[in-house]
Amino acid sequence: MAYNITLIPGDGTGPELSDAMRRVVEATGVAIEWEVVEAGADVMDKHGTPLPDTVLESIKRNKVAIKGPITTPVGSGFRSVNVALRKELDLYACLRPAFTLKGVKSRYEDIDLVIVRENTEDLYAGIEFEKGSGAAERLIGFLYEEGAIVRSDSGISIKPISVTATERIVRWAFEYARREERRKVTAVHKANIMKFSDGLFLETARRVAEDYPDIEFEDRIVDNMCMQLVQKPELYDILVCPNLYGDILSDLCAGLVGGLGVAPGANIGDEAAVFEPVHGSAPKYAGLNRVNPTALVLSSVLMLKHIGEREAADRIFNATAAVIAEGKDVTYDLGGTAGTREMAEAIIKKIGD
Ligand code: NAD
Repeated sequence: MAYNITLIPGDGTGPELSDAMRRVVEATGVAIEWEVVEAGADVMDKHGTPLPDTVLESIKRNKVAIKGPITTPVGSGFRSVNVALRKELDLYACLRPAFTLKGVKSRYEDIDLVIVRENTEDLYAGIEFEKGSGAAERLIGFLYEEGAIVRSDSGISIKPISVTATERIVRWAFEYARREERRKVTAVHKANIMKFSDGLFLETARRVAEDYPDIEFEDRIVDNMCMQLVQKPELYDILVCPNLYGDILSDLCAGLVGGLGVAPGANIGDEAAVFEPVHGSAPKYAGLNRVNPTALVLSSVLMLKHIGEREAADRIFNATAAVIAEGKDVTYDLGGTAGTREMAEAIIKKIGD
């Protein structure tokens, strides 16, 4: 029986990348009924929203989706479709593996890290008070009564961290470690300064870790973590992070392995999962057949593993790694002259070998 999977091509370079990814996945022979739905700035005029209900309904029905990047126009008045999707579907775990691929230029060798980022709270919760607004003034007044002096010309962003969200993300990281046979989970925080938010994250993580004696557990303060990742990345395995640190560390780790063109990702909840590259829509390259399909193709590898198609996932991974290692049919960012389509064709050919 075919899998029903929602495909959101996205905008900018999204459609050409999605097309390449779809052909690579189909080359494995796994039967998939793609339900193609549109979201983003291009559907605004027709639907009055960049995220029509049909998109959410499709993902809820199929439980699995893969998407190309979607532009968030600056100052357009609509919030990021990507953030909205994560929120609406409670995709609380953001998975971002970063690994060395032979043939990708980097200062580092043998990197094999996984970032597990909490996706629903922290400074990303969107709880903000604009400087000078009535709400900001009331909040500053309340804080004054509590003994905290905040300047009257301040803007304020709130950082909630809950036991509930921390428990489920840390548990998710340990379950992932067991499933993928990994050895260690490191919790990242700044508990020495933010005792009641990051402190709670750390305390909760330690408690959850007791349920997983087979997996090593440790913690690192986020600033020290940055230095350690640059100096000794081989010491680390899975990093479980609150939202903002996870965001920053995933770009750092993408940098360790050669950049955005090869960085896959996934947003996973209990009811649905959406797979997408870490990179954005790279609009200046839209329609030029130039950008690297690897990040979206490797996101499809995560997707195939998620639905239990491990063999097909391995075939795509090995074929992609082989094409990159050979360095002949690769895109500009990997030092080649191939287009998106040509690189995808080379991967497809290797899958068939
Ligand atoms: P971007 O990732 O789109 O591009 C930055 C640069 O990285 C590009 O100019 C290009 O040089 C390079 N690059 C990115 N992807 C590449 C690929 N596949 N192959 C080769 N080179 C690649 O980042 P940006 O310019 O900051 O964002 C553009 C738009 O994308 C913004 O509207 C942003 O909000 C959105 N965005 C969407 C997502 C998502 O859909 N999940 C994620 C990040 C950014």
